[in-house]
Amino acid sequence: MTASFITVPVPLATTPYSVLIGENLLQQAGEQSTAVVRPCRCAVITDEVVAGLHADTLLASLKQSGFEAHLITVPSGESSKSMAFASDLCDRMIELGLDRKSAVFALGGGVVGDLAGFVASIHFRGVPVIQIPTTVVAQVDSSIGGKTGVNSHLGKNLIGSFHQPCLVLADTVLLKTLPDRIFREGLAEVIKHAVIADPEMLDLLPPDRTSNLTELIARNAAIKSGIVTQDQFETSGKRALLNFGHTIGHAVESVAGYGTYSHGEAVSIGMIAALHLSVRLAGLPEDQSHRVQATIRKCGLPTTIPESLSTESLLATLQRDKKFDRGAIRFVLTKELGSAFLSTRVTLDDLLDAIEQLRQG
Ligand code: NAD
Repeated sequence: MTASFITVPVPLATTPYSVLIGENLLQQAGEQSTAVVRPCRCAVITDEVVAGLHADTLLASLKQSGFEAHLITVPSGESSKSMAFASDLCDRMIELGLDRKSAVFALGGGVVGDLAGFVASIHFRGVPVIQIPTTVVAQVDSSIGGKTGVNSHLGKNLIGSFHQPCLVLADTVLLKTLPDRIFREGLAEVIKHAVIADPEMLDLLPPDRTSNLTELIARNAAIKSGIVTQDQFETSGKRALLNFGHTIGHAVESVAGYGTYSHGEAVSIGMIAALHLSVRLAGLPEDQSHRVQATIRKCGLPTTIPESLSTESLLATLQRDKKFDRGAIRFVLTKELGSAFLSTRVTLDDLLDAIEQLRQG
């Protein structure tokens, strides 16, 4: 079957690559990959849910193009993003005879992408990785930009590397098998992209899940690519704009206990707080804030926090945030939809006010 797709370039100076987005790209994965890696012995790293749904298609396509592919499966969920799993994966790959001429295919959501990307970056000091994202979060965000890593027991994403993929294949048909809650939480990152770069996208949300999602995903991939290209190693502050809604979102996620809110749900709550602060401190027009809030609701994402999440614990968590410095925190705000900037002036009192707003639904 031939698939038509959109190509979004990621024109990094030293490691440029493409993101291909389209329906039924998985069937073409082998053929598309031969443009960037020679057919070789390779590992397909995935989780056990995705393995049952989509691994056979990928393995068949790789075989047809001359790859000797070995499937390695990890449990589904964040707990697989650990040094222990990374180390096990390296051992498995060595046992299977994968060496420096091998490649890694990361088939899955952000967990698999981060873990397999990290493993690829350290196996024989680095082998190519092809990212094949299967969630909305992974297709619009995590598979692009080269941030890979695992969690430490002291915090999320504290161990890792920059390792750009040599190709990203986003098959939008794969999103059809996502459970509804996981599909919807991915829309939080789409709303974030709309706020910081492309407000017209708000009118397309939530998308009809049965329709062709290629254009929507491609629009998001282009935004992520643009930001990553301007700030590959997160040094200029541009990449920090992707944190819109994430500062308070992370605090909500952590205080509620990981797993109570999904990441996208917590980010939605964080975006409501960031919109409130943007109106108060940056002059964002109220109607623009309401437009985003209405979209968050339409996507079935939360906008308020319950009494059980105490203001004191949220503030205490925020004060431990590494972005906090001498009474103020670096915080992403927007003056006008389609743009964002990093403010250094958000104080503890401002955060307190934003948290109180989250109780008013
Ligand atoms: P995930 O990878 O845990 O996937 C969510 C769930 O969906 C899992 O249970 C998985 O088995 C299942 N799943 C995946 N694809 C499926 C499909 N097509 N059909 C049915 N089920 C499917 O979660 P996620 O939200 O994709 O990613 C979250 C991770 O991404 C976090 O660890 C986060 O830190 C990371 N992340 C990384 C970056 C980055 O730049 N590297 C950016 C954002 C998020």
